[in-house]
Amino acid sequence: VTFESLGLIPQLVEACAKLNFRHPTEIQQASIPQALEGRDIIGLAQTGSGKTAAFALPILQRLFEAPQPMYACVMAPTRELAFQISEQFEALGSTIGVRCAVIVGGMDMMSQSIALSKKPHIVICTPGRLIDHLENTKGFNMKQLKYLVMDEADRLLDLDFGAEIEKLLKVIPRERNTFLFSATMTSKVEKLQRASLVNPVKVEV
Ligand code: AMP
Repeated sequence: VTFESLGLIPQLVEACAKLNFRHPTEIQQASIPQALEGRDIIGLAQTGSGKTAAFALPILQRLFEAPQPMYACVMAPTRELAFQISEQFEALGSTIGVRCAVIVGGMDMMSQSIALSKKPHIVICTPGRLIDHLENTKGFNMKQLKYLVMDEADRLLDLDFGAEIEKLLKVIPRERNTFLFSATMTSKVEKLQRASLVNPVKVEV
């Protein structure tokens, strides 16, 4: 199986080659074609499975087909994970000129506001700080959002980000795609799935 055969455009196939991704991992093989078809996805996968590229590549491809700011929001449970996700988006999206902003707690609000005012395509965040900006940063909203990703959803919920996620779901369009990735399927994750995904494809590796 090649990245090309999953339906990816040459620019993204080239980006994978540059990163020395020779073949798509199992989760990438299962997710990418479905995501490119516009399906919501619930993925049960661990770190190390290649899950980040599994959601980043289809988002980048659909962004390339219809570019706009504030295209996707990725929520992660920790700052470290948010930065790692951003690095992968930037590496995989370098050939199409993607712009990302990382919006996490414990860092300067003002420089984050400036980053948001530059209209990034992808915002990678921890939920609390994102809500803080939605409430306090003038001109920032997510009314154009096309993709929501919740990465490590079980950890997001264990860290009590449930209320923030609920708030966010109220201010983003219903007409969007949603990817939910989790290492485990808990009753909280199931509840979040029902509240946020429409007719999802379940991918397990
Ligand atoms: P993740 O599961 O997203 O945290 O990815 C784990 C690591 O695998 C990251 O360092 C990726 O850069 C790398 N990776 C992702 N997809 C592939 C692939 N198809 N081939 C080789 N390495 C990959």
